[in-house]
Amino acid sequence: MDLFEYQAKKLFADHGVPVPTGKVATTPDEARAIATDLGGRVVVKAQVKAGGRGKAGGVKVADGPDDATAKASAILGMDIKGHTVHSVLVEQASNIAEEYYASFLLDRANRTFLAMCSREGGMEIEEVAATKPEALARIPIDPLTGVDATVARQIAVAAKLPEAALDGATELLVKLWDVFVRSDATLVEVNPLILTADGRVVALDGKVSLDENASFRHPDHTGFVDVSAVDPLEQKAKEKGLNYVKLSGQVGIIGNGAGLVMSTLD
Ligand code: GDP
Ligand code: MN
Repeated sequence: MDLFEYQAKKLFADHGVPVPTGKVATTPDEARAIATDLGGRVVVKAQVKAGGRGKAGGVKVADGPDDATAKASAILGMDIKGHTVHSVLVEQASNIAEEYYASFLLDRANRTFLAMCSREGGMEIEEVAATKPEALARIPIDPLTGVDATVARQIAVAAKLPEAALDGATELLVKLWDVFVRSDATLVEVNPLILTADGRVVALDGKVSLDENASFRHPDHTGFVDVSAVDPLEQKAKEKGLNYVKLSGQVGIIGNGAGLVMSTLD
């Protein structure tokens, strides 16, 4: 299950990963109220499960409540890569000095976990990997020992983060690993990870994928499910403990595993 940015940031904050202060709005008036509470410059961010929102016009800085209201009404209802924007995150704007990249993921091919970190953040990481592979550090993580301060620093150094960001990044990476492990995630990604003008390292964006096979261990994660995106029949089946896949037309399959479902389909 992929999370919205605001949900990812909630998990981050719960584990001590620094994120900007903010709240979600579903109407321009709510956005105004949040901007008024926050005071000063805010950023209004489309909440859709797709990357590249910035490029698509879904991330805008506003200089106060009036501007935030206008930016929110422009972004709400927008279509980004086939996803309609139903909510926006209104956050205190950050003063960005530099943008980096950091992630932990399940590396199925190598049967381990992987840390990826780069001094080149903000843009799509696939592009960095393709055009400047030397700028993307890839460090395998031993699941038994995980990421402590020593390993976290090695990751930050391998990514060639500047001296000014090393301490902050080390601390953040240890906590981000904590999010990864404790939430049973298969991916936690921060792009950009920023160094602010006043020297703090902050997660400005967040992408998290949770392993649904572990959801029984996380009753607190049920609130993350986007019920509007779940097929109502599949939802009903799930509530009754059935593995049901809705197909097009009037057909669906109840099975007890992927193999049986595929055979039934055939
Ligand atoms: P994405 O395009 O979907 O990955 O959305 P991001 O959350 O990564 O935002 C895209 C870009 O918007 C970032 O790389 C920043 O350059 C910019 N941005 C986001 N928040 C702020 C902010 O608080 N202040 C400033 N100045 N820029 C921001
Ligand atoms: Mn991003």
